[in-house]
Amino acid sequence: MTETRTFPRNAVFQTSLMSALLDGIYQGNMTIGELLTHGSFGLGTFEGLDGEMIVLDGVSYQMRVDGTVHPAALDQVTPFAVVTNLVPQIRADLPDGATGDEVAAFVDRLIPSPNYVYALRITGTFSEVRTRTVAKQEPPYIPMAQSSKDEPVQTWSNVSGVLGGFRTPQYLMGVSVPGYHVHFVNDERSHGGHVLSYRLQHASIEISPAMSLDVSLPDTPSFQGANLLPDDLAEQIHSTEQHS
Ligand SMILES: [Zn+2]
Repeated sequence: MTETRTFPRNAVFQTSLMSALLDGIYQGNMTIGELLTHGSFGLGTFEGLDGEMIVLDGVSYQMRVDGTVHPAALDQVTPFAVVTNLVPQIRADLPDGATGDEVAAFVDRLIPSPNYVYALRITGTFSEVRTRTVAKQEPPYIPMAQSSKDEPVQTWSNVSGVLGGFRTPQYLMGVSVPGYHVHFVNDERSHGGHVLSYRLQHASIEISPAMSLDVSLPDTPSFQGANLLPDDLAEQIHSTEQHS
């Protein structure tokens, strides 16, 4: 009996854990320069939750709560980020006018198995993208469910740009954000953030599967003392990442 390998064994790299971020572990543990050696595509945040990160073509963009976007310096640091080298194995045109939920259902049918991590890049025009951006915190840090409560939600209408992120299996809850987690930046690289919902005009998707996961755990006292398995983990992820 032969079994054919589905895909080449591409890796997703991440530093720290979503559950550590939820517990208020916002100290940077890796420079952007080092992060980018592990992948040229991905997402994350910056030390102190100083904005949302999207990594495209080897550039890490910092999208701050004041609405500014600029390429991060290589010596800036991140407390949590997920990157990979995008090797699209599946490409498709998405249904015109689809909502984020409809795109998710479409992608669920395209992928061969829910049990791997998939990097996703959606490029095109959007009638609406709703984003939030985390606001810089000062130590002593408080858990994310409290620090992210009053973040402003912004709605971008009739924009072209890129949604970049990951579809992660449910069994990685706490390691990462289970399900779809995407960030947005417009073509001008002048605005964007963590995506709460969107509706396409016309866009296509590239899907890069990963069958290896490389997790770098911070060597810091705050990580060593973190509570990484709170009873309400699913609820905390829902309230900080999904807001619905
Ligand atoms: Zn995010």
